[in-house]
Amino acid sequence: MPNANSSTAAITDEQVLIVGGGHVGLSFALMLAHQGIKSTLLEKNRFPELSPDDEGFQQHYLDSRNTALSRRTVQIYQEINLWDKLQSHACRIDGVEISEQGSFGKAALNKEEEHVESFGQVMENAWLGRKLLLAAKAEPLITLIDNAQVTNVTQDSDSVSLIFSYFDETNEQQLQGSILVACDGRDSTVRNILGIETTTYDYEQTAIVGVVETDQPHHHIAIERFSPAGPLAVLPLTDADGDGNNDLQTGYRRSVVWVCPKGEESRYLTDEAHFLQTLQEAFGNRAGTFLKAGRRGAYPLTRVLAKKQVLGRCVIMGNAAHTLHPVAGQGFNLCLRDAHVLAKMLSRQVLKGEDIGDNTMLKRYERARLVDQKRVIRFCDAVVHGFTHPNPAVKLARNVALIAFDKLPRVKPLVANYAMGLKS
Ligand SMILES: Cc1cc2nc3c(=O)[nH]c(=O)nc-3n(C[C@H](O)[C@H](O)[C@H](O)COP(=O)(O)OP(=O)(O)OC[C@H]3O[C@@H](n4cnc5c(N)ncnc54)[C@H](O)[C@@H]3O)c2cc1C
Repeated sequence: MPNANSSTAAITDEQVLIVGGGHVGLSFALMLAHQGIKSTLLEKNRFPELSPDDEGFQQHYLDSRNTALSRRTVQIYQEINLWDKLQSHACRIDGVEISEQGSFGKAALNKEEEHVESFGQVMENAWLGRKLLLAAKAEPLITLIDNAQVTNVTQDSDSVSLIFSYFDETNEQQLQGSILVACDGRDSTVRNILGIETTTYDYEQTAIVGVVETDQPHHHIAIERFSPAGPLAVLPLTDADGDGNNDLQTGYRRSVVWVCPKGEESRYLTDEAHFLQTLQEAFGNRAGTFLKAGRRGAYPLTRVLAKKQVLGRCVIMGNAAHTLHPVAGQGFNLCLRDAHVLAKMLSRQVLKGEDIGDNTMLKRYERARLVDQKRVIRFCDAVVHGFTHPNPAVKLARNVALIAFDKLPRVKPLVANYAMGLKS
């Protein structure tokens, strides 16, 4: 069944067709709506029923991950008047501590030294997805179609057509637009239909994610710790319902992202005591005592890069364009910057009365974004390889690098700006 916003009568001749209603697809549709541009978004899963008052919300309907939103991402959401709706469930990062278990090197960033309001915010994916979906459902310029799969894409010099069918129906339907933007994730169907190849690299690692409780408050500090069990990040979270009161009374919520070698994840997923004990050993008393862990999720880590992001009137965006390692918390933030630039370029085309699917303009978009994308990909891989290499000489070098980072006056602001997504 299409959701309440869907209507087969109103979905032809839309300007922008979007495939994929993850965080990138929904955010892009909202950015377009802010520019006055209509879109139709097609998602293969059923969107959950949501009520604006948050009642009856099953917090884990999407996934157990949490996303560190950079300052630039927050600015983009502010620009499209969405941040007010998101911020009650977002937790500020005022400081970052980086260290390695059993080593002398460590580094710290704090917001006073860097003269920033915060380094970013952490939000549970379940809340982010819910808030984006609520905003999209309320937006008259966005038509949402769910429970539907793409079966073909065709394009000519004037338009692009998307052929799809609902999962519970056999007959196919067609949508026509000036441009199609594929935000359908790492294994993108649209990318495959268009015959766009990828380069893939398997990190042979799995990310374990979840929410834990500690007996000490987080004081809005994000802790990145490199341990023999793999790199770990413990990020501050709001209390469960975002009302500012710690309703749990027992402990303080934090988000954990733990990258371990492939094959080692099963015990951490099934055995809470083992998970908590390994965390405690890796962190010592930096975060206090780890009391409890919620349901953990496991994500196999591969880097997937589309060899082209533009073909005719089609754009590949989000994880469909570049799926990165999560160690530096950059993937979604990079996708959002891509979406923001494209929405602005389409808006300029509309103002000039020009075709929003014009291939020359779309190629310009692709070229412009490659600089930021390549920089982030290099940064993520440098962190992954630099901090997981077991060689003692490499370990010494990274400790020296951490000290240098902490002490050299001009290095910290540079890296801080970079991680906040403010330099591209
Ligand atoms: C463990 C982990 C932690 C992370 N932490 C961070 C972080 O802190 N900060 C950060 O910036 N990034 C982070 N990331 C990266 C971030 O999660 C991704 O970049 C982001 O989720 C990409 O969103 P997306 O919408 O492009 O893709 P997805 O989230 O994969 O969404 C794709 C959507 O398309 C739909 N779809 C798929 N196929 C079809 C089809 N054929 N037809 C219609 N719909 C379809 C799917 O159902 C889904 O809704 C992390 C990633 C991982 C794995």
